[in-house]
Amino acid sequence: MNNKSNYKYLLSDLNKLKGVGVKTKNLLKKKNVNNIFDLLWKLPKSYIDRSLSSKIKDLRIGENQTINIIPQKYSFPRIRNLPNRVLCSDDTGQIDCVFFNSYEGYIKKILPIGKEVTISGKIGFYRNKYQLTNPKYISEDSSIIKKKHNTYELTEGISEKMYNKIIYQIIKDLPKLDEWHSSEILKKFNGINWNDSIKKLHNPENIGKYKNDFYQRLVFDEIFSTFLVNSEIRKKIKKIKKTKKKINIKKQNELIENLNFELTNDQVKTIKEINQDLSAPTKMFRLLQGDVGSGKTIVSLVAAFNTINSGYQVAVLAPTEILARQHYNLSKKIFPKRFNIELISGKSDYKDKKHILDKLSRHQIDILFGTHAIFQNKVNYKKLGLIIIDEQHKFGVNQRKKLSDKGGDSCDVMLMTATPIPRTLTMSMYGDMDISIIREKPKNRKIIKTYSKLENKIEDVIKFLKKEINQGNQVFWVCPLIEESKKIDHSSAVEKFKYLKKIFPHQVALLHGKTNIFEKEKTLNEFLNNKFKILVSTTIIEVGIDFPNANVIIIENANKFGLSQLHQLRGRVGRGNRESACILMFKSNLTENAKKRINILKNSNDGFEISEEDMKIRGFGDLLGFKQSGIKNFKLADPIHNADLFLLAEKEMRRIEKSNEDISKFKPLIKLYDRADIINDIV
Ligand code: ADP
Ligand code: MG
Repeated sequence: MNNKSNYKYLLSDLNKLKGVGVKTKNLLKKKNVNNIFDLLWKLPKSYIDRSLSSKIKDLRIGENQTINIIPQKYSFPRIRNLPNRVLCSDDTGQIDCVFFNSYEGYIKKILPIGKEVTISGKIGFYRNKYQLTNPKYISEDSSIIKKKHNTYELTEGISEKMYNKIIYQIIKDLPKLDEWHSSEILKKFNGINWNDSIKKLHNPENIGKYKNDFYQRLVFDEIFSTFLVNSEIRKKIKKIKKTKKKINIKKQNELIENLNFELTNDQVKTIKEINQDLSAPTKMFRLLQGDVGSGKTIVSLVAAFNTINSGYQVAVLAPTEILARQHYNLSKKIFPKRFNIELISGKSDYKDKKHILDKLSRHQIDILFGTHAIFQNKVNYKKLGLIIIDEQHKFGVNQRKKLSDKGGDSCDVMLMTATPIPRTLTMSMYGDMDISIIREKPKNRKIIKTYSKLENKIEDVIKFLKKEINQGNQVFWVCPLIEESKKIDHSSAVEKFKYLKKIFPHQVALLHGKTNIFEKEKTLNEFLNNKFKILVSTTIIEVGIDFPNANVIIIENANKFGLSQLHQLRGRVGRGNRESACILMFKSNLTENAKKRINILKNSNDGFEISEEDMKIRGFGDLLGFKQSGIKNFKLADPIHNADLFLLAEKEMRRIEKSNEDISKFKPLIKLYDRADIINDIV
């Protein structure tokens, strides 16, 4: 058995291919093509048909044509810059083959006098004669030339001819892999196997045939491999045994009754789901997904409360210190006095920190809040029972798994995200976790009215703000960049601050990425305590912070943001029980497409719906959080056009999970498509 019958052949080095030397290999590496498999996804863009040959008298100048000719006479001028020429003919006329920078020996070899040779290329005309300059397609074997040649998006330094040769070689030697899909699934694609699908994919006749079975099958393979890996990670984590936590429902309900609001149905439902996991004999690895302002914090704190009551410690990780402090303050307010609650912040000095770490390791702290610092190596928990990670849509699968491992076996893990994503993407992004979703907003919420304004109408906006401020309301003013950049024409927070300060003396403060942490906290606290009315800032207010008294948000240069991001920003207001407004400002009139997008935002306040619509208009690559999420780029799959296949893949994955099917037959699929380290543990 040669190695070409195994999937591993496809993962071999490019050197294995004839004609690929170090130079070509390095060029391809730069394009992220590291092995034979990667090359399979370099798809032809179109093709040139060289299959029909013409007579010289019928040649059309400027077109790619193929002719059978007989070389008659060489002329090698031996003067620099003058090209070598070969006069060739057929029974209807003459043509010159012209070569710049080439060796006589080579020319004599490929165009031997008196022998019939097939040549192909773009026909030129010079000094009353047809000519072909630097022809690439020359052969005595016409079958090599007379066919359709794919054209590729070329990598610099690699010619089309080269690509065709390499791909042809791979296709010819494609290993016959055993089918990994069930016959049910295979039926959906009319039984076409992987091998034939790849062959069809590279057949120039099939370019753009996205709906055909071969293409759909390959798309499905790709989606399914991701889902399967995620599902295996989830299964593996859920197999980890832990000591069950005992939930004291009576105490929990007392805590909830003392809140100054009533929980929504979805909050109650998610608390139940989490409690089930906490009291299960296996580890929890759960994502709490809910739109901005849907009230995730309280759900997580109830989970923390229950965990502490059953004798464990809790760690709450927030993306920013401000947010960590806000959660800390809230738990100080609602948790019993006997709980030891601590915060590690940039402000805490070395001695404080050391003291906290010391107490932590002796279980004299019940719950610790902070940023990633609370998970550094030197931080030792005596009896960590739950890790809560807020607003961490930036974590990818690998990072999440590491965190889960870090907590140790008895530690449950709960992540929260306010980035609603379209249904089709949930499995790709979060398939390694169980998911609880809060869809319902608290009932007391008033709608947020969304307006768009041209920048030159700023006077109107100011008038509006004067009215709002007179009524005791507070305002966020969001600008995209810190300082006026030389090239990019973004509004600057600094400039705007100066401008607004003149109109509203002593009522405006500024926050930007360079403001230091102490200053930042002071400013935010003052804003929270209504010491000033307008907070000008860059997008740092985006995540998590809760300011119930702010009910107007102005977003400048709104077309610089994605819809989901605008929705997140807008979610900073409308948390109290007064009506709120979001004013989107634009530099110039909106294009039709931009109008469509903004209308989605105006008509909906549901993050899930907005992300769904936004994806339809912009494609999924741009969605908030998606770029940073570490999710792999699909080669063929497209969540919009292949939504049905995403759903089918999810269904199949659930079936496999339920029936506990052996997944070893999927090994080639997973190894080929998903080469993350993580899968070495799996198959
Ligand atoms: P997010 O889901 O974006 O993290 P938060 O947890 O910060 O949202 O909640 C936003 C605001 O809503 C907070 O001021 C919180 O106290 C309040 N809140 C949470 N749940 C409810 C509820 N059921 N009814 C009324 N207000 C609530
Ligand atoms: Mg939050």
